[in-house]
Amino acid sequence: MGNTNKSSNLYKINDIFYSIQAEGLHTGTPAIFIRFSNCNLRCEFCDTEFLSGIDMNVSEIMNNIENFPSKRVVFTGGEPLLQDSTELAKKLYDEGYKLYLETNGMYEIKHNYFSWIAVSPKNDKIKIKKCDEVKCVVGMGETPNSYGIKADHYFVSPKNPTHNEDIGKESANFFDVNVAKYCHEYVMNNPKWKLTLQTNKILGTQ
Ligand code: SF4
Repeated sequence: MGNTNKSSNLYKINDIFYSIQAEGLHTGTPAIFIRFSNCNLRCEFCDTEFLSGIDMNVSEIMNNIENFPSKRVVFTGGEPLLQDSTELAKKLYDEGYKLYLETNGMYEIKHNYFSWIAVSPKNDKIKIKKCDEVKCVVGMGETPNSYGIKADHYFVSPKNPTHNEDIGKESANFFDVNVAKYCHEYVMNNPKWKLTLQTNKILGTQ
């Protein structure tokens, strides 16, 4: 699937919500999440309903976030880089927001407004070769593969079972302690990696 740029400056947005960053170096930090609709992949462990969404322009998105107390915004998905976010990112930056990106790394970033880039690679078709943190989803008996991406931080995130029979459905929150313990052991033996846990699943939050 190619990039789906929209000349009318409309973005297909699946959800906008306020929570804490659930994984990675900024775990626990309150942030506004803008979940962009759609993804180029269909990972079997995906726990996100990303197909639905509504078209929103920059003003509508700004109206939706202006009352949240944090000035951190995370672009997530689905795959946020399927849509050219330059106009939205510039507006947020100009309004004093700090921007974070969560991506599978398979598309180029079209602007320089992100202050933090987290890549969760799923295969070797990587376009983002350098970022702030890499997060690999690891199941029982598996090993993480960063596909040569250079980063300051490398995280292993235990793969949790999903009840997502097809990508259009919301999966149940479920945290598998056994896989987490396996990943705990893995990072102990491979200290390049750090363990990150899906805090949202442990807490049952968004
Ligand atoms: S896990 Fe990420 S990359 Fe995979 S289908 Fe879900 S949103 Fe897309």
